[in-house]
Amino acid sequence: MKNIPPTKPSVFSDDYQSAREQFLNAAKAASATTESYIHPSAQGPDGETLSIDTAWIGPRDASSVMIMICGTHGPESFTGAAIQLDWLQSGAYLPSSSMSMLLIHAANPFGWAHCSRTTEHNVDLNRNFIDHPNKLAETGLTRSIQNILCRSTSRGPRFNHIMLSLGKLLVSTGSAKLQNEISQGQYSYSCGIGFGGHRAEWSNTSIKTILHRNLEHAEHVTIIDWHTGIGQYGEPCFLCFDEITTPEYQRAIKTWGEKIRNSNASYTSGERPEYHGLLINAARDAVKACGAKATTCVIEFGTYSNFKMLKALLIDRWLRFDAHTSRPKRKLKLKEKMLRSFYPTDTQWRANVLRHGEKIIADSLAGLHAQEVKA
Ligand SMILES: [Zn+2]
Repeated sequence: MKNIPPTKPSVFSDDYQSAREQFLNAAKAASATTESYIHPSAQGPDGETLSIDTAWIGPRDASSVMIMICGTHGPESFTGAAIQLDWLQSGAYLPSSSMSMLLIHAANPFGWAHCSRTTEHNVDLNRNFIDHPNKLAETGLTRSIQNILCRSTSRGPRFNHIMLSLGKLLVSTGSAKLQNEISQGQYSYSCGIGFGGHRAEWSNTSIKTILHRNLEHAEHVTIIDWHTGIGQYGEPCFLCFDEITTPEYQRAIKTWGEKIRNSNASYTSGERPEYHGLLINAARDAVKACGAKATTCVIEFGTYSNFKMLKALLIDRWLRFDAHTSRPKRKLKLKEKMLRSFYPTDTQWRANVLRHGEKIIADSLAGLHAQEVKA
C-alpha cells in the first residue's frame, strides 16, 4: 500500500477557536512574538476564551511596519485570517532587515465566535471609532429606515415587506441617500442595523492599545484591514478613505495602483457611503500621532450583491433580537445563509482570494520598502 502524504490543513477554518489555534501555532513556527488580549467578560458559545491575538515578525525596533488586521466583522474574519495565515506559513518573507510585520487576529472575537457581524453589544465595530460626545445625530430618515429594517416574524426578517417599504422610500430620497443612511452608521438604535455604540467597545480600546504599544520606533506604517462582501465576486475592492490631496492618498496610489480610485462602482447607488467611525481611520490617526507616515486601505473581497448583503445584515439582527421563539432548525438555516453571504464555500472563490491576497501583500511590502529607500 502506498504511503499517502498527509493533506495540508486548509488556511480557511470553520470556526473561531480552530482559526485561533492555527494562527498561534503558525506564529510560533515563524518565531514570532505573540501577545493575547483576553476579553475580560465575554466568552465563546461553548465558554471558550475570546482574545485578540497579535504576532510580531521582525526586529522590535523596525522603522517600517506593515500591519494586517482581520475580524472587524465576525463572519468576514475567516477570509482575512486565511490570507494572514497563508503569508505566515509561506515563510514570512520581509524585504528588509529594518522592516517588521504585525498581524492582528480577530479584532472582534465575539462576533467571530458567535457568527455575528457585530460585537457583544450589537455594535458594528467599524462604526465605533468616533468621538462619542459628538456622534452623528438621529434624523427622521434614520428613524424611518430603522423601523423598516427591524420588521420580522418568528420565521425571520420580513424581506418582501422591508424591500417594498425601502423601494417606496427610495422614490422620495434617491438611492445614494438611502444607501448612505443604511450604511453610514447610526448611534440611536442599539437593536438596529449599523449601530455604532454609545461608547468605545472593548475591541476598539484594545486595538488602539495594540497600535500604541507597537509603533514606538515606526517611521513608515502600512495598514490593511481585510473585509468581505463588497465588490465583484472573488475580486479585491480597495477602499481608501484618505482625501485625494493628502500624502497618505498618494502613497496608497503608489502602493496599490489606480484601482484604489474606483470603489464607487462597487455600490448599487454608484456612490460609496460616507461611513462614520472606521477602524482604519483611527489606525491611521494613531500612526500619525506617533510621528510616522501612514498608508492605509480597507480591502474587501466581493461576494454577492448589495441587496443580498443587506438581507444578511437583517438575518444577523433577527438572530440576535427576534429569533427567541423560532425553531432551532430555522435559526440554523438562516445563520448558515448569513455566514455564506460573507464567506462562500466555493473553492474557486477561496483560491482567488489567496492569489490576490499574496499579490497585495507583496505590493504592500514593496511599497513600504520603496518609502524606506527614498527616506
Ligand atoms: Zn466588513
